[in-house]
Amino acid sequence: MNKKEYIEKAEENLLHVYNRFNVIFDYGKGVHLYDELDEEYLDFASGIGVMAFGYGNEDYEDALITQLKRITHTSNLYYHIPMIEASEKLVKASGMDKVFFTNSGAEAIEGALKTAKKFAYTKKGPGDYEIIAMENSFHGRTVGSLSVTGTDHYREPFYPLMSGVKFATFNDFGSVLANLTDKTCAIILETVQGEGGLYPADEDFLKKVRQLCDDEGILLILDEVQCGMGRTGSMYAFQQYDIKPDILTTAKALGNGVPIGAFCVTDKVAEASLVHGDHGTTYGGNPLCTTAVSQVFDMFEEYKLLEHVKAITPYLEQTLDRFVEKYDFVTERRGRGLMQGLVLTIPVKDVVNKALMEQHLVVLSAGKDVLRLLPPLIITEQDIDEFKNKLENVFDGFAGK
Ligand SMILES: *Cc1c(COP(=O)(O)O)cnc(C)c1O
Repeated sequence: MNKKEYIEKAEENLLHVYNRFNVIFDYGKGVHLYDELDEEYLDFASGIGVMAFGYGNEDYEDALITQLKRITHTSNLYYHIPMIEASEKLVKASGMDKVFFTNSGAEAIEGALKTAKKFAYTKKGPGDYEIIAMENSFHGRTVGSLSVTGTDHYREPFYPLMSGVKFATFNDFGSVLANLTDKTCAIILETVQGEGGLYPADEDFLKKVRQLCDDEGILLILDEVQCGMGRTGSMYAFQQYDIKPDILTTAKALGNGVPIGAFCVTDKVAEASLVHGDHGTTYGGNPLCTTAVSQVFDMFEEYKLLEHVKAITPYLEQTLDRFVEKYDFVTERRGRGLMQGLVLTIPVKDVVNKALMEQHLVVLSAGKDVLRLLPPLIITEQDIDEFKNKLENVFDGFAGK
């Protein structure tokens, strides 16, 4: 079949919930993707922040192939070594105490919400407990995670959602206070808002929210599904704020391409929340996926990847800052580490499409007007130079108009 026939077949059989780009990716090597005709693309999206180690990493592949041939699935009724090893590494890397593995980011959020509700139930008994979430946030597409996602048009078609969710303004502590009631059981936020447009939490805001949670005996849930796993230069972004959440969610790069997420809790939360019979999953944390997690944490150390992210970030920032200086329609750079955005006054969807189709540069959008960059964490200065040339070609096309 040729490309056109493949795409026709896709549209015939797949539910149309994505306007996919007119590209078929076939394989990858390092920071490059290749389509069905072997044409090369530079990837500054990492499959939405997943492929931290890029494509075709042999250490990673060998670990998974070995496990694949041993056992891929057992269910959670039995112990298996990959999960035991992965949980120890995740606990160590996050500074949290207990882990539950899920299949996705949204499921990690579901678990976090249930944990917060159960914690309040254990401490205070039944009550119509409320959760404060942030406007402009993104936590996933399941009913629970959608209920705390602060984008009206994602939520509206599916009302009524989970009740008792109030939305505060991100980085506005007064607005959080205004939504606090005696029924509040948790506050959920992204340490760096991703989909909403690359907004890092202000240090002062996050510290005040942490203090409020301590004072009120409520739980702080930090969603690091996108900004975690080294993306901002520390394993988790909150580690740069001198605070710790009560519940942490992680996914995306956690498995570097196999579907896995997790929610992690402190001992204080574990001791007064979910117990036997409260929660479960058939696949979650199966031997194949937890082998990937284990391998990912090993490779972070082997490759000194956090040091690399910290070292390469200024070069990317300078490159992006030059775009702000050079083009009138690029008004601001925003983000942390290798999670960066350029705010545009030209239609960002057109930029993303032109970059992909004409320059073979894979980039993302966020919010209404942000060009979002989530390159593999292994990028080099040379890759950033290649990115710069390609994006300049795209922007020059718009500047000429
Ligand atoms: C992607 C994302 C999710 C949802 O993860 P899925 O694996 O798509 O379910 C949740 N929270 C944040 C911050 C995300 O970026």
